[in-house]
Amino acid sequence: MQQAISICWLRRDLRLHDHRALFEACRAGPTVVVFAFDTTILSLLTDRADRRLQFIHASLAAINRDLHEHGSRLIIVRGDPVDEIPRLARELSAQSVYVNHDYEPSAIKRDQAVAQSLLHSSIAFYSFKDQVIFERQEVQSQSDTPFKIFTPYKNAWRRRLSEHKAELQAYEPNLSQLLPSSQLPTSLKSSSLEESPLSVLGFSPTSLWLEPGVEGARVRLADFLQKISDYRDARNFPSVEGTSGLSVHLRFGTLSIRECARAALRASGKATNPGAETWLDELIWRDFYMMILANFPHIAQGKAFKPETDAIEWPGSEAHFQAWCDGRTGFAIVDAAMRHFNATGWMHNRLRMIVASFLTKDLLVDWRKGEAYFARKLLDFDFAANNGGWQWSASTGCDAQPYFRIFNPITQSENFDPEGNFIRAQVPELAGVFGPDIHRPRNPIVDHAEQRAKALALFKR
Ligand code: FAD
Repeated sequence: MQQAISICWLRRDLRLHDHRALFEACRAGPTVVVFAFDTTILSLLTDRADRRLQFIHASLAAINRDLHEHGSRLIIVRGDPVDEIPRLARELSAQSVYVNHDYEPSAIKRDQAVAQSLLHSSIAFYSFKDQVIFERQEVQSQSDTPFKIFTPYKNAWRRRLSEHKAELQAYEPNLSQLLPSSQLPTSLKSSSLEESPLSVLGFSPTSLWLEPGVEGARVRLADFLQKISDYRDARNFPSVEGTSGLSVHLRFGTLSIRECARAALRASGKATNPGAETWLDELIWRDFYMMILANFPHIAQGKAFKPETDAIEWPGSEAHFQAWCDGRTGFAIVDAAMRHFNATGWMHNRLRMIVASFLTKDLLVDWRKGEAYFARKLLDFDFAANNGGWQWSASTGCDAQPYFRIFNPITQSENFDPEGNFIRAQVPELAGVFGPDIHRPRNPIVDHAEQRAKALALFKR
C-alpha cells in the first residue's frame, strides 16, 4: 500500500534546508510542499507594487527550481488558507499537515481554524518551533514569569543555550522523500507557480535592491561573516555597510535563524570577537520581541505595552505626519532616512530610532501612525520587531527609552553621519553642502528645544 502523504505548508520559512517542519514531514513519509497566497492578507496591501510580494514570489521560484531538481514541484493555492489548506489535504488524501509556529495572534487564530477543519477529516496538524531559538515561555525569570527587560532575558537566554546546545542543530530534511510531480493528481495541474504570476494576484512587478531567495541569503551571510568582527563599531553608521542586511531574509525564512546563531557563535568562539558577540545580541533582541508578543498579545490590539501611556493624547498634526512621511521636515538626517526608505523599503537601525523618536517626541504624533507607515512599506516588516522598535522609541514599551531621554536630531546627525555622506546621497538639495553645515536644519517644521519641552510635559501629565 502507498504511504500516506504529508503536506509541508511554507509561510515565513521559504527554504528547503535546516527547516524543522519539512524535516518532520519528510521523516513521516512522501511530502508535498505548498505555499498559499493568502487573499485575506493580500487584500489589505495598499501598494500594488509591493516589494514583499516581489521578494516572496522570487524566493518561491527558487524553491520551485530546487524541488524540480528533486523530481517534485511547489504546489500553490490562492484564497483563504483556512479553506484552501484543508481542501488540498483532502484532495491529496494527506494524513497530516506540517508547519512552523507563527507567533502573531492573527496567524495563531488562522492555524487553529485550519487544524480544526483538518480534524473533521481526521487529518493531523503538526506545528514546530523554527523561527526563533527560544520561544514563548522557554526563557523565563526565576519567578517563572516572562522577562520584560532585555539584559536579564539575554543572560538567561545565553545560559539556556549553553545547557541546551541541541537547540542550534540543523534540521536537514531528507529531500528524497519529496513526492514526484508525476504522482500528483491531474486536478492539481493549475496549482503551479507559473499559474500565479504577480499580475494574477493583482500586483505589479517592482525592483528589489537585494537578491531574494536562499542564494541571496547565503551570499549575504557569507559576505557579512567576513566583516563580523567590525560589527560592534560599524553598525551605527548608515553610510557604512556595517550591518548584515539580513533582516529581510530572516523575516521570510530564506535563512535559518539557527544558521545565523551558529555562525555568530563560531566567530566568537575562535577568539574574543566583540563584533560577533554584539551581533548575537541583536539576534537575541529578535527572540525577545517575539517572546514579548507571545506573552503580551495586547500589543497586537493597538495597545501600548505600558497601559498608563495609552492615556497620552498625541497633539501632532496630520500635516507634520505627512512631512515626515515625505522626508520634508527640514532636518537633514530625518529627511535623508525617510527618502531612502520610501525609495527602497529598508532603513538602517540607527535611522529607524532617529525617525521614530523624531515623529513621536519632536512632532508629537502618535507612534501607531509611524508603526503603520513602517508596516506598509518595510520590506523586512515583522510585527513583533516593528512594534517593539516603535514602542521603545515612543517610551511606551517594555524596556523602552526613558521618556526624558529625547534624541536630538542634530546631534544624532553629527554623531552618526559625521561627514554627511548618507545625507548628501539621499537629499539632492544638500548634495553640494560639505562640512558641519550639512547638519543644520533648513526651514525646519518645528523647533527641537520647544518640542522637547512639550514632549516632557505630555509624558509628565
Ligand atoms: P543587523 O544589525 O545585522 O542584525 C541582525 C538581525 O538581528 C536583524 O536582521 C534582525 O533580524 C535582528 N535584529 C537586529 N536588531 C533588532 C531589533 N532591535 N529588534 C528585533 N530584531 C533585531 N526589524 C525587523 O526585522 N523588522 C521590523 O519591522 C523592524 N522594525 C523596526 C522599527 C523600529 C522603529 C526600530 C527602531 C527597529 C525596527 N527593527 C525591525 C529592528 C532593526 O532596525 C532591524 O532588524 C535592522 O535594522 C535590520 O538590519 P540588519 O539585518 O542589517 O540588522
